[in-house]
Amino acid sequence: MNNEELQQLVSRISLESFHKPFMHRAYFNPRLRTTGGRYLLQSHHIEINPKAFEIYGVREVEGIILHELCHYHLHLEGKGYQHRDKDFRALLKKVNAPRFCSTLQIPKSRSKKQRPHYTYECIQCHQRYVRKIRFNVNRYCCGKCSGQLKIVE
Ligand SMILES: [Zn+2]
Ligand SMILES: [Zn+2]
Repeated sequence: MNNEELQQLVSRISLESFHKPFMHRAYFNPRLRTTGGRYLLQSHHIEINPKAFEIYGVREVEGIILHELCHYHLHLEGKGYQHRDKDFRALLKKVNAPRFCSTLQIPKSRSKKQRPHYTYECIQCHQRYVRKIRFNVNRYCCGKCSGQLKIVE
């Protein structure tokens, strides 16, 4: 799906579920990380995470769009458009939208790679050690020369 098709999808969902036109832009934003989508208060545009589409497909994206359109229409009408507002919750229920800006569950294999590693270096022989856990450099020393370790990154 490209931006043009996304725009059409948002316009259609707006008319079908809210009986109101969507008069701003909807587009994919690849910089979104774990949020499925967001509504921009300043410009009234709706941004969708392209990864939501890749991971979950069109049904999930439709849910995200419904949710963002709730923010959109309430905000434009000067009603309570935030998650905690009564107007917002009532509208979500009415159009059967998911309660939260859906958070993407990045598949485990990928998130494992992103887990931080800590690199330690011996200040004497410069041997490097990469460990998954952070430890106190005062309590351990270099396995090769017993020199003091320092954390590099
Ligand atoms: Zn939201
Ligand atoms: Zn050493």
